[in-house]
Amino acid sequence: MNLKLYNTAKKEVVKFKPMQNNQVKLYTCGPTVYDYAHIGNLRSYIFEDVLKRTLIFNGFKVKHVMNITDVGHLTSDADLGEDKMEIRAAKENKTVTEIAKKYTNQFLKDTKRLNIIEPDILTKATSNIKEQIEFIKKLETKGFIYQTKDGVYFNTAKFPRYGNFARLDIKGLKAGARIKNGIKKKNITDFALWKFSPQNKSRLQEWKSPWGVGFPGWHIECSAMAMKYLGEQIDIHCGGIEHIPVHHTNEIAQTESLTGKKFANFWLHNEHLLFEGKKMSKSKGNYAILQDLVNKNYCPLAYRHLILTAHYRSKINFTWESLQSSQHYLNNLYRKLKDLEAPTNIDSVYLEKFTLAINNDLDTPQALAIMQELLKAEINSDIKAATLIKFDEILALNIKNYISKTEPIPQNIKDLLAQREQARLKKDFKNSDFIRSQILELGYEIKDSPSGPKIVKI
Ligand code: AMP
Ligand code: ZN
Repeated sequence: MNLKLYNTAKKEVVKFKPMQNNQVKLYTCGPTVYDYAHIGNLRSYIFEDVLKRTLIFNGFKVKHVMNITDVGHLTSDADLGEDKMEIRAAKENKTVTEIAKKYTNQFLKDTKRLNIIEPDILTKATSNIKEQIEFIKKLETKGFIYQTKDGVYFNTAKFPRYGNFARLDIKGLKAGARIKNGIKKKNITDFALWKFSPQNKSRLQEWKSPWGVGFPGWHIECSAMAMKYLGEQIDIHCGGIEHIPVHHTNEIAQTESLTGKKFANFWLHNEHLLFEGKKMSKSKGNYAILQDLVNKNYCPLAYRHLILTAHYRSKINFTWESLQSSQHYLNNLYRKLKDLEAPTNIDSVYLEKFTLAINNDLDTPQALAIMQELLKAEINSDIKAATLIKFDEILALNIKNYISKTEPIPQNIKDLLAQREQARLKKDFKNSDFIRSQILELGYEIKDSPSGPKIVKI
């Protein structure tokens, strides 16, 4: 099959091919578990789920690793501010581990409600401190790091390709930048690999390292965990679009400086969900969580549908009206599915159309349009049912649950029904009644409905 994906590194849609046969190594940046994921965050995981399901649909075997950030993500991406986990633990008067557990469980519950397949490996930053320290030690041996009073930094001037990925304009590279209290970085783009605990104050989470007691910077966890679980090179790396200039640029710098090899062949990023015209975010306060939707009587899958109506590289402005439309769509779909017979064979023409759409850089709006066309098509309903179930391997809207689970109608019964229709058209009611009784004897009943006669098993 011919799967094409937009590769951020190349800025174009290109044919996807894994490094090894049909095995795909997929790494996706996971949540920072200091709070509930908002529905903007969940858009990222729905997009990644569609990607993963599409890979599987195409016959690839996927090994999917996702990190759980439970340390080191500061309130500012520029290595400033406080650790989000520590702030929350203090606020809720709990340990960081308790906070991480609470919001990881909630995250898993939300993703399950959205039919998102769990990663093969879901691993916490704090379970991989040793690996992160080892990673930094290797960078040190190769001369990529330096130390300031507040931590250990990656020297981006030593990685000449720095910023190429994001097409960054790095005029200020040599200018240096203040971190705080007069501590200076060598280059404005340098970033923390390890931060020291404040003097005279213990953090809730801190570890010994060759450079001093402290905690890992946010970016190093993804590089270290991707390498530990997937190896030095991976096929696909994903995340939200704002990760391009900082987080993913820094992951590339660290990993490629250490290995001398290309880190990921494909980089895929989803656009943001907007709310009231602005990026949905906790810090701006313009957000909703999945439970807010459920509390207003929307199904989580209506939200999944809403996300599928837009391409992953387009912004979506979330409104309650658009969610209402998706809920409406789902209700209608489920009603129609109830009228279908038990699934038999897949319609190859519709399958091909659908596959072309989804393999064209995950064109879910087009895939949904094809599903709509199929629902209206003059095709036997058992074939419709089977084809829709196949589509749902990607859409994941629980289609199977609404389709009759009874045995398919045998061909001889269908033939008799066709003969009866012929008789009726010829107004040969005697023969038509005779065929009806034959069908009855065989254990089936004809039910006349506005959309034509239907056969049901008695
Ligand atoms: P975080 O838990 O903050 O690390 O974010 C988890 C994921 O959500 C990341 O991949 C972000 O890029 C993504 N993300 C954050 N805000 C939005 C948004 N408004 N729309 C879509 N994705 C988002
Ligand atoms: Zn990451």
